[in-house]
Amino acid sequence: MHELGIVFHIIKRVEEVCAENKLRSVASVTLEVGEVSAIVDTYLIDCWKWAVEKTELLKGCELKTEQVPAVTICDDCGKTYRTVEHGRICPFCASENTQLVSGSDIMIKEIEAC
Ligand SMILES: [Zn+2]
Repeated sequence: MHELGIVFHIIKRVEEVCAENKLRSVASVTLEVGEVSAIVDTYLIDCWKWAVEKTELLKGCELKTEQVPAVTICDDCGKTYRTVEHGRICPFCASENTQLVSGSDIMIKEIEAC
Protein backbone atom coordinates (compact mmCIF):
# COMPACT_ATOMS: atom_id res chain seq x y z
CA MET A 1 0.00 0.00 0.00
CA HIS A 2 1.31 3.39 -1.08
CA GLU A 3 0.01 5.16 2.03
CA LEU A 4 1.81 2.79 4.40
CA GLY A 5 5.18 3.54 2.79
CA ILE A 6 4.52 7.25 3.18
CA VAL A 7 3.56 6.79 6.83
CA PHE A 8 6.83 4.97 7.57
CA HIS A 9 8.74 7.72 5.81
CA ILE A 10 6.98 10.43 7.86
CA ILE A 11 7.52 8.57 11.14
CA LYS A 12 11.23 8.26 10.38
CA ARG A 13 11.47 11.98 9.61
CA VAL A 14 9.53 12.95 12.78
CA GLU A 15 11.81 10.72 14.87
CA GLU A 16 14.84 12.49 13.41
CA VAL A 17 13.37 15.90 14.24
CA CYS A 18 12.60 14.73 17.78
CA ALA A 19 16.15 13.48 18.23
CA GLU A 20 17.57 16.80 16.99
CA ASN A 21 15.29 18.77 19.32
CA LYS A 22 15.43 16.31 22.24
CA LEU A 23 11.65 15.82 22.24
CA ARG A 24 10.38 12.82 24.20
CA SER A 25 6.85 12.65 22.90
CA VAL A 26 4.71 14.18 20.19
CA ALA A 27 1.05 15.21 20.50
CA SER A 28 0.33 15.66 16.82
CA VAL A 29 1.87 15.88 13.38
CA THR A 30 0.34 18.08 10.69
CA LEU A 31 0.90 17.18 7.06
CA GLU A 32 0.34 19.20 3.94
CA VAL A 33 -1.14 16.86 1.38
CA GLY A 34 -1.16 17.93 -2.25
CA GLU A 35 -4.51 17.92 -4.00
CA VAL A 36 -3.19 15.64 -6.77
CA SER A 37 -0.82 13.56 -4.63
CA ALA A 38 -3.06 10.48 -5.09
CA ILE A 39 -3.15 10.06 -1.33
CA VAL A 40 -6.36 9.09 0.40
CA ASP A 41 -6.46 10.89 3.76
CA THR A 42 -8.53 8.25 5.50
CA TYR A 43 -6.13 5.44 4.45
CA LEU A 44 -3.21 7.57 5.51
CA ILE A 45 -4.70 8.14 8.97
CA ASP A 46 -5.60 4.43 9.37
CA CYS A 47 -2.03 3.43 8.47
CA TRP A 48 -0.69 6.06 10.84
CA LYS A 49 -2.75 4.80 13.80
CA TRP A 50 -1.50 1.28 13.21
CA ALA A 51 2.14 2.23 12.65
CA VAL A 52 2.60 4.67 15.56
CA GLU A 53 1.50 2.05 18.08
CA LYS A 54 4.69 0.17 17.22
CA THR A 55 6.91 3.13 18.08
CA GLU A 56 8.00 4.48 21.48
CA LEU A 57 8.02 8.12 20.62
CA LEU A 58 4.84 8.50 18.62
CA LYS A 59 2.44 6.24 20.47
CA GLY A 60 -0.98 7.95 20.54
CA CYS A 61 0.22 10.78 18.33
CA GLU A 62 -2.51 12.31 16.18
CA LEU A 63 -2.08 12.86 12.44
CA LYS A 64 -3.71 15.94 10.94
CA THR A 65 -3.84 16.72 7.26
CA GLU A 66 -4.27 19.96 5.34
CA GLN A 67 -4.89 19.99 1.64
CA VAL A 68 -2.63 22.06 -0.59
CA PRO A 69 -4.24 23.14 -3.87
CA ALA A 70 -2.65 21.90 -7.08
CA VAL A 71 -1.32 24.70 -9.30
CA THR A 72 -0.07 24.42 -12.87
CA ILE A 73 2.06 26.96 -14.74
CA CYS A 74 1.80 27.54 -18.49
CA ASP A 75 5.18 27.70 -20.25
CA ASP A 76 3.73 29.70 -23.15
CA CYS A 77 1.93 32.57 -21.39
CA GLY A 78 3.55 32.25 -17.96
CA LYS A 79 0.27 32.28 -16.04
CA THR A 80 -0.67 29.87 -13.27
CA TYR A 81 -4.04 28.20 -12.77
CA ARG A 82 -5.84 25.60 -10.65
CA THR A 83 -4.94 22.15 -11.98
CA VAL A 84 -8.07 20.34 -10.84
CA GLU A 85 -10.40 22.79 -12.61
CA HIS A 86 -8.55 22.97 -15.92
CA GLY A 87 -6.28 19.93 -16.22
CA ARG A 88 -3.31 20.06 -18.57
CA ILE A 89 -4.65 22.70 -20.96
CA CYS A 90 -4.01 26.36 -20.09
CA PRO A 91 -7.35 28.21 -19.69
CA PHE A 92 -5.73 31.50 -20.82
CA CYS A 93 -4.04 30.53 -24.10
CA ALA A 94 -5.13 26.89 -24.64
CA SER A 95 -1.53 25.70 -24.65
CA GLU A 96 -0.71 22.13 -23.62
CA ASN A 97 2.78 23.20 -22.67
CA THR A 98 2.09 23.22 -18.94
CA GLN A 99 3.72 21.90 -15.77
CA LEU A 100 2.47 21.12 -12.30
CA VAL A 101 4.21 23.43 -9.80
CA SER A 102 2.58 22.41 -6.52
CA GLY A 103 0.06 20.00 -5.11
CA SER A 104 1.73 16.68 -5.87
CA ASP A 105 3.76 16.36 -2.67
CA ILE A 106 3.33 15.52 0.96
CA MET A 107 5.23 17.60 3.49
CA ILE A 108 5.44 17.79 7.25
CA LYS A 109 4.10 21.19 8.21
CA GLU A 110 4.16 21.04 11.98
CA ILE A 111 5.23 18.76 14.82
CA GLU A 112 3.56 19.54 18.12
CA ALA A 113 5.32 18.33 21.26
CA CYS A 114 3.33 17.13 24.26
ZN1 LIG B 1 -1.09 29.73 -21.29
